[in-house]
Amino acid sequence: MASDVEGIDEIIETPTAVQLVFHVRRDWLAEPDEAAQEMAWKSERCAAWLRSPEFKQRYGMKPGVLVMKAARQPPADVMTDAARLGCDVEVGRIALAGEAAPSLSRCAVCGRDGFANPEMSVTERGLTCPTCFSSWVQAQDLRASRHGLGGGGFRVWRVVIGFGIFFVLTVLRHCH
Ligand SMILES: [Zn+2]
Repeated sequence: MASDVEGIDEIIETPTAVQLVFHVRRDWLAEPDEAAQEMAWKSERCAAWLRSPEFKQRYGMKPGVLVMKAARQPPADVMTDAARLGCDVEVGRIALAGEAAPSLSRCAVCGRDGFANPEMSVTERGLTCPTCFSSWVQAQDLRASRHGLGGGGFRVWRVVIGFGIFFVLTVLRHCH
């Protein structure tokens, strides 16, 4: 989905998060300064909008995630910066400035397309992009920890029953 907010190229709402996607279509090797500038102002724009009352008004308490789509692989220091910003990086799914877009596969959760197949994960909802997949993993962890409390209680009962049976068997053996 294209966004109506300047500097944010796509805004995608999923069941667990809102993805603010910005595109860097410059080549990091050929035009490092231009690419860095494009990343800097767009990521700042996304982060500022994420903190704005407008975001809260639209999406309530849903967490926002920054996603940078880069036409070419950014250098290591840029990847470190992105990680520090909590920004997912997706490479090769948008065209380099001045080129036509590549056509690849589609995420079953957020509906974004243009993903390379090896990057996709299979969930119960179908092929899932890396961003939706990490939200899905978090949701699974949360569910597992909730069930874990109930499972812990059950485990205690199994131990109690086990000791009960052992005690009864011991008593029976001594009676003979
Ligand atoms: Zn997705």
